[in-house]
Amino acid sequence: MKTTERLYYTDSHLTDFEARVTGITERVSGWVAVTLDRTAFYPTGGGQPSDTGTLNETRVVECVETEEQGVLHVLQGGKLEVGAQVVGQVDWPRRLDHLQQHTGQHILSQAFINLFNAETRGFRMLDQYSEIDVALVDPTEEKIEEAIELANRIIWEDRAVHIRQVTKEEAASLPLRKDSAREGELRLIEIEGFDLTPCGGTHARRTGEVGLLAVRSFERAKGLARIDFVAGGRALADYRRANRTARNVASMFSAGRDDAPAAVARLLEENKQLTRHVRSLEEITARVEAEELLKDALALDNGTRLCTRVFEDRDAESLKKLAQALIAHPATIALLGSREQDAARLVFARSVEVPGDMNTLMREACQMLDGRGGGKPDMAQGGGRNLDKLDDAIQAAARRLTEA
Ligand SMILES: [Zn+2]
Repeated sequence: MKTTERLYYTDSHLTDFEARVTGITERVSGWVAVTLDRTAFYPTGGGQPSDTGTLNETRVVECVETEEQGVLHVLQGGKLEVGAQVVGQVDWPRRLDHLQQHTGQHILSQAFINLFNAETRGFRMLDQYSEIDVALVDPTEEKIEEAIELANRIIWEDRAVHIRQVTKEEAASLPLRKDSAREGELRLIEIEGFDLTPCGGTHARRTGEVGLLAVRSFERAKGLARIDFVAGGRALADYRRANRTARNVASMFSAGRDDAPAAVARLLEENKQLTRHVRSLEEITARVEAEELLKDALALDNGTRLCTRVFEDRDAESLKKLAQALIAHPATIALLGSREQDAARLVFARSVEVPGDMNTLMREACQMLDGRGGGKPDMAQGGGRNLDKLDDAIQAAARRLTEA
């Protein structure tokens, strides 16, 4: 096994370095991957994505760890030869972002141990935020915010972060936050007076470099609390986004940012009342409308009055109210339809004493509309996507009734 000397192990702020190419392999993508005798690039691992940067002028798009070859630097083009001396440069903004999230995770994980004896079982650094899974019994907003408070206090105390190399035996006598499966020498990350844990990642020099830690949301997942958090520059970016969103909402109400929730709640309550009001008005207008429609009704041989009508943009509830107003009259059948944006709606209804199965008629009509529907013998509802067939579907149902 060839090993790569990992410069980031001792200095996570080193971005420029020189190295010698020790191997080149073709990737399936057509790109090449090179190994170096030493590298400052952190390869993907431990829930953290790899560094990016350049080797000479060529972009390093990803770094991966392999057991046989050490750290593979995947290059976007470029010509390098085994034995060549190269100059490597790690993208610092990305490295800084990663070490803020990662060191932030160490601090937050220890905060949960200190306060609630709740271990961290998983960590993933994603594009805009990170997740930790914490074995927190009965997670609440209060508990999580308490941990965030402690974590930020540790950050603002600007404690030193030390890297320690110890043997497996030495490690056994130390109060480590978690065990390591690694053999041989262990690399420990110590946040002075707060946290000691084995880790191979890139960290801040002092906790102050993490800047700020904030939780965006949390959920219960498989008996754990999955916590979505941001640190450092991400916390600022997230604050900007959240602030913009809140101000945009508030401006729609000509309200101050922090008054927006109350303004939205008032609007929702008003809307509920208006809807109730509209429904009761609809019942009144439906009765008047029903009288008008009955004047144009077709008189069938058996003395039943048949009302057919297609409306534009009438919702199912309003259509049903009209049907109910119609069949409140004796010996009446109503076949009503509505075109609403991309859907056709139907309501078929009859007075109690009139024979005929509206359910069967509705199923047949819905087939013509490429939709579905059904109900009871005296009242059925349905609809479909085939708007062009709405008139035909109602006419077909009317014919069935006149021919019966
Ligand atoms: Zn770490």
